[in-house]
Amino acid sequence: MNITTEKNGLDRREMVKMLGLGSAVGVLGLFGTPAARAASRETPAYARGMAPVTITKVSAIATAPSGSNLIVVKVETSEPGLYGLGCATFTQRAFAVVTAIDKYLNEFCVGKDVDNIEDMWQSAYVSSYWRNGPVLNNALSGLDQALWDIKGKRAGMPVYQLLGGKTRFAIPCYTHAGGRTVEEVAESVQGFMDQGFKYVRIQQGGYGAVGSTADEPDFKKAGFGYERDSYMNQRLYLKSVPEMFAAVRKACGEEVELLHDIHERVQPMDAINMIKELEQYRPFFIEDPFSPENMEWFEQLRASTTVPIAMGELFNNINEFKLPMVNRWFDYIRIHVSQIGGITPAMKVARLGEWFNVRTAWHGPGDVSPVGHAAHAHIDMAIWNFGIQEAGRFSEQLQEIFPGCPTMKDGYMSVNEAPGLGVDINEKAAAKYPIHTRSNWQVRTDDGTIIRP
Ligand code: MG
Repeated sequence: MNITTEKNGLDRREMVKMLGLGSAVGVLGLFGTPAARAASRETPAYARGMAPVTITKVSAIATAPSGSNLIVVKVETSEPGLYGLGCATFTQRAFAVVTAIDKYLNEFCVGKDVDNIEDMWQSAYVSSYWRNGPVLNNALSGLDQALWDIKGKRAGMPVYQLLGGKTRFAIPCYTHAGGRTVEEVAESVQGFMDQGFKYVRIQQGGYGAVGSTADEPDFKKAGFGYERDSYMNQRLYLKSVPEMFAAVRKACGEEVELLHDIHERVQPMDAINMIKELEQYRPFFIEDPFSPENMEWFEQLRASTTVPIAMGELFNNINEFKLPMVNRWFDYIRIHVSQIGGITPAMKVARLGEWFNVRTAWHGPGDVSPVGHAAHAHIDMAIWNFGIQEAGRFSEQLQEIFPGCPTMKDGYMSVNEAPGLGVDINEKAAAKYPIHTRSNWQVRTDDGTIIRP
């Protein structure tokens, strides 16, 4: 007779074996008091929780293998061999971020639990009383992403799994095509289409049309400003963009999605008029039409044109996104994820966007570390209202310093399946490329007035 029951899961043979061995556990387990039974059992796995792990050190690793300063936070823990990495790259003020990490964040974090990411984020956010700006937000992002990396390693899962799992097989990306002439831009677009890209950003001349003319500006002739100041001919730029779209559409057809970044460097009404003119070329989106000081102009823009708009890479605080999203002033949230404090706040903004059909387009230029690109990619894999991702470019030096970089294929980005963010760091290789204080963003009009990006 088989006496196995679903209730106790024991068969007679096992019972006899336990009793025959005189096992105290068996005897108490079967016949003792409830308290004795409870004491004798091992805690089931689901009720165990995770062993406490605390932070032993938070430090900055700085490197500039491609010219741009990259900052990564390393969070070391009481668990031997367990550490996390997070991107804290504010390339233009890298040394300030390093100080914030090594001097303030380290002291703030040592001895604290690695598990409570939300609590760590909230407490670090207000620990300096005044709300964070770009320096402290980037430091906080480094901590936040490193704690997600550690959580993934503890769980044995890639971070995208912890964020809800996959909503797509890989991440569609756009890349950057450029050239001195419209013909060169079209040729560059075609080259990327041949590589499998379906989305291409087009820019002519220097970035934001800076230095788009060989003419010497009046301020230089007059000896105003400084040697490294750049010049932007705003009228020439406004005229050239529709011509570039027309030429690229003609040469490359209707299949490819075209994007363009105004980089905020023209007057609001000029931007609106230019975007209206671009409607006929069906841009995927136009990015950053206004500087953050000019947010109120969005109402006029939305009333004037239906071209999709991306905005937000210069925002610092997640609260800056609330009203524009509620009012649907733009279609794509253009966040520099480390700039707003990491994965935790980015997920909140992304989730908020879902309710307003505002989609994501995380800022992914060369001044984001591969750890940061991986953080973008893990979020992109998990959220429903993903829009598009700016593609990362991972040079040989970057791959040497950051083993496990995301990979690009046929216009899609993918992350590996290693637990955490999946990107490691070779500190010895990183040390070969010291960071620097060079940064030059002075762009002037013909008479020498500084243009706000
Ligand atoms: Mg931009």
